[in-house]
Amino acid sequence: MPRPADTAIGLDVGGTRIRAAIIGRDGAMRDRRIEAVQPDRAGFAAQVSRLVEALNHTGCAGIGIGIPGRVDGGTGAILSAGYLDIAGLDLRARLGATAGLSVRVENDAAMALLAEVSCGPADARGLVAMVTVGTGVGGALVSEGRPWHGGGVAGQFGHIVVDAGGPPCRCGQRGCVETFSSGTALGALVLAEGLAPGTRAEDLLDRAVQGDAVAATVLDRWALPMQRALHTLAAVVNPVRVVIGGGLGGAMAAALDRLPARDGWYSQPFAAATLGDDAGVIGAGLSVFAGRAP
Ligand SMILES: [Zn+2]
Repeated sequence: MPRPADTAIGLDVGGTRIRAAIIGRDGAMRDRRIEAVQPDRAGFAAQVSRLVEALNHTGCAGIGIGIPGRVDGGTGAILSAGYLDIAGLDLRARLGATAGLSVRVENDAAMALLAEVSCGPADARGLVAMVTVGTGVGGALVSEGRPWHGGGVAGQFGHIVVDAGGPPCRCGQRGCVETFSSGTALGALVLAEGLAPGTRAEDLLDRAVQGDAVAATVLDRWALPMQRALHTLAAVVNPVRVVIGGGLGGAMAAALDRLPARDGWYSQPFAAATLGDDAGVIGAGLSVFAGRAP
């Protein structure tokens, strides 16, 4: 009997960087590489193939790759990927042919959440949600340790509407939480309150603790729509926990903690993600072993 493969190749594609590494079943990472991502279609395809070929395939069960955008979790089809021109690119066929391995393509938040529930303190039992806060707001669901896609693209929590008369969103609706509680929205709030352009969320949190009313106002206006969205998330799917991740995940969790609890039927336990920038590449490798939610 051959030994079961105990490693996988993980790739995490971000808006600006791509990470690749060998990931063990236990989440251990080795041979990590980080490069600036090639945003054009042909350059990206060549880059991904080259990174996979450069890693040692011995004992590898397959390849997992996380994409920053909408991915049909059932088929692996890339429907959109933000600034990257890779919609419709068939990575499963391309990488499968290159490496002779099975390929799993998922939304990057699903990969990060897999890592959090497998290697972090969050309990993997039941339905766990992730909300990512970065340039935009993303999300994912994991059920019993496996990504849950609904009809294909479940978990797009950035597009929970919190104000039907709010600003237009790129998805076609108005007043999505992404238009209020993303990093982009935080930058606009900073300017609207007359603060220095580029003021960081951590600076705002420090200043609010010291009693700065303007910093507190910016943080509350940024986090309150997210609090509403989390209540809606609780009402719709009632996850046992929401992990707040992404580059601004820790700051958002801290800003949410500042808000008074709201009366009503729904409250939602949440916690900041714990694994940092490597969660995506670790989860991408673990996805090869994770199976699919029923
Ligand atoms: Zn939207």
